[in-house]
Amino acid sequence: MRVGAPDERRAKLAPPPATNEHVRKSMQGNKGKNTKPEMLVRARLRAAGLTGYRLQWKVPGRPDIAWPGKRVALFINGCFWHRHEGCPYATTPKSHVEYWVVKFDRNVERDERNLQALREAGWTVHVIWECQLKKKAIDATMAELLPLLAEELGKTLAAPPCSAHT
Ligand SMILES: [Zn+2]
Repeated sequence: MRVGAPDERRAKLAPPPATNEHVRKSMQGNKGKNTKPEMLVRARLRAAGLTGYRLQWKVPGRPDIAWPGKRVALFINGCFWHRHEGCPYATTPKSHVEYWVVKFDRNVERDERNLQALREAGWTVHVIWECQLKKKAIDATMAELLPLLAEELGKTLAAPPCSAHT
């Protein structure tokens, strides 16, 4: 019996103290629902008439936003934690590198597993990255996403996605 092993692994992966402001903010920004990016997306969805979604629906990966009846899921991923490829926000802290690399690898693997499980269960899955919701990018992001969602949900967009309305 190797009772000690899992604990040792966990202990090794205890989070290091946040080494700088960016890391601290990122760590705080990773806490569950009602984060700022999610609120932004939800406001746009409501404005477009794409309501009826559920938050953190209990399927693999707990999608931030889901329309279970239509099996449409939307993940809003932080670039830092979920390792947005090639994104300037997906930095790696300079200290405790080993910890972060293991942690990030796990996050990416978990995300991939969850997406695959959802798709196999017949879900249509969208992943939106936090950087795509920055002020300069959000209009373009939503202009692309909203018509897709409307089609998948069998709904008509309430208004064209236009920045003049926000
Ligand atoms: Zn990004």
